[in-house]
Amino acid sequence: MRYAVISDIHSNLEALDAVLNYLGDNPVDRIVSCGDITGYGPDPAACIKKVWSLSNFKSVIGNHDAAVAGKIDVSGFNIEAQAAIKMNAENLSDADKSRLASLKMSIKEDKLVFLHGSPRDPLHEYLYLLEKMKENIKYFRGDICFVGHTHQPLIYEYVSDKKDNFFEVRKDVEVFNFEPGARYIVNAGSVGQPRDNNPAACVVFFDTKNLTLTFRRIPYDVEKTQEKMRQAGYPGKLAARLGFGI
Ligand code: ZN
Repeated sequence: MRYAVISDIHSNLEALDAVLNYLGDNPVDRIVSCGDITGYGPDPAACIKKVWSLSNFKSVIGNHDAAVAGKIDVSGFNIEAQAAIKMNAENLSDADKSRLASLKMSIKEDKLVFLHGSPRDPLHEYLYLLEKMKENIKYFRGDICFVGHTHQPLIYEYVSDKKDNFFEVRKDVEVFNFEPGARYIVNAGSVGQPRDNNPAACVVFFDTKNLTLTFRRIPYDVEKTQEKMRQAGYPGKLAARLGFGI
């Protein structure tokens, strides 16, 4: 089985299209999203329509999706994120909001788990630190837990309490081989708002046959998205950060 794992599309249609075009040329069996289809960007309705039209697509819910759908309060978000959540919500039909609201906290398939933040707290916890990764490895069953939320691609490898590793993914294409017997938390990065100083969209391929993980960056027309955001009145800071990948 060949998976494409994506995360944090954040209403960025140009970035999503670039990834789906790539997947058109390089098809997979399943596309799984680790949440936050919406929030931040200017095209929530078009992004929802596009992913729901894919026959092999599944997603978990992210914190922005939950806020846009009215399931959680916006007060926990920073001021720009709040503004974008409100604008996204105003641009969505009730049907689209209930689509978002229907997304589950986690998806389990074979020995894989997909969720947004962390196994311990799928909606809110950020996994940046090795210590937090180590704590969280006990909160899921299976070999690999795919997450998003931090918008930074990385791999945590757990062999035992005394032996674990942390790999930051910084190349445009990075191939990683899984160690049989080890367990992993893999952050799929972000399609629509990367925060690792690389503006290109991120997608992760996982092949269950040869246990290979491939991270790939896909450039898209950032300026087009930025222009749409300015036209629609989204906070300038949110448009600007896309250009830097921060
Ligand atoms: Zn996000």
